[in-house]
Amino acid sequence: MHDEFEKIAWLKARFELGDPPDGSVLGIGDDAAVFDFGERPTVVTVDTHVEGIHFRRDWLSPSELGARAMIAAVSDVYAMAAQAVGSVVALTLPPKYPEADFRSLIDGLADAARATGAAVIGGNLSGGPVLSITTTAFGHSAERALTRRGARVGDRIYATGALGASALGFRLLEAGRLDLEHAKSFIDRWRRPPIRAEVAGRLSDFATAAIDVSDACLQDLGHICRASEVGATLDAQALPTLLGFAETCAAIGADPLELALTGGEDYEILFTAAEVTKADAVATQIGVITADPILRVLDADGCAIPLRSDGFRHFS
Ligand SMILES: [Mg+2]
Repeated sequence: MHDEFEKIAWLKARFELGDPPDGSVLGIGDDAAVFDFGERPTVVTVDTHVEGIHFRRDWLSPSELGARAMIAAVSDVYAMAAQAVGSVVALTLPPKYPEADFRSLIDGLADAARATGAAVIGGNLSGGPVLSITTTAFGHSAERALTRRGARVGDRIYATGALGASALGFRLLEAGRLDLEHAKSFIDRWRRPPIRAEVAGRLSDFATAAIDVSDACLQDLGHICRASEVGATLDAQALPTLLGFAETCAAIGADPLELALTGGEDYEILFTAAEVTKADAVATQIGVITADPILRVLDADGCAIPLRSDGFRHFS
């Protein structure tokens, strides 16, 4: 596979549409893909992973990198309560990028495309100074896409999965502390974010607003509050974390509350809901929407924890 055409022929086979995704009629091989999503709104988003900015090649395998790029992009489709139906991927390969790494990167992408529903129907290959992956993902929304704008006073706030896990994994990689008892589970969260397709498919039933946790819980909740013109109060004790979170944070001198609130790249879904029974079944209740347009985090005694204006915790 020395030239671009050989690579494309191989990619076409690797991303063959065995069972065409909803509405897709033509995948890789022509000038453009063709798809028809029918009557419901189409959701589209693009996300880029650049070597040296978003990842280091020695921190994850090529296959994990491919999967991560796809899952991170599709996470934005899920946050609109849409189901992923297709994707196009622009790949920039650095000089002398090993053939075996290329193949396993594509394997990771293809596996994640299958797992998320975002079949790869096209893309572009290019050379460049560093490795980068740009993924455009398409989704099929419910009758109306779920936005950040619908949160109402009294709605409960929910988070799927665990918060701060990915950020802690990243810190462990930076600190070289792979020896800690629970290190692997956090590093795995950073390397392989969760796929929240199932929750996404149910959100339109009960959620009033949603966003995925890519920047950080507090920051992303802030986006919902600004768009919905409301405020929020979070219960610090209620934030869901993985087993061993607090002690692993302590071992590297990190503040668990700060990481859970301000650590990024969890790719969990943060949403608000008025109807709690259905929401309780898929996520953890972490707070409530308020009329006061500010964010508050309460400690175990119900006292507000001081936050800096940028959402980060004050340290005394
Ligand atoms: Mg997002």
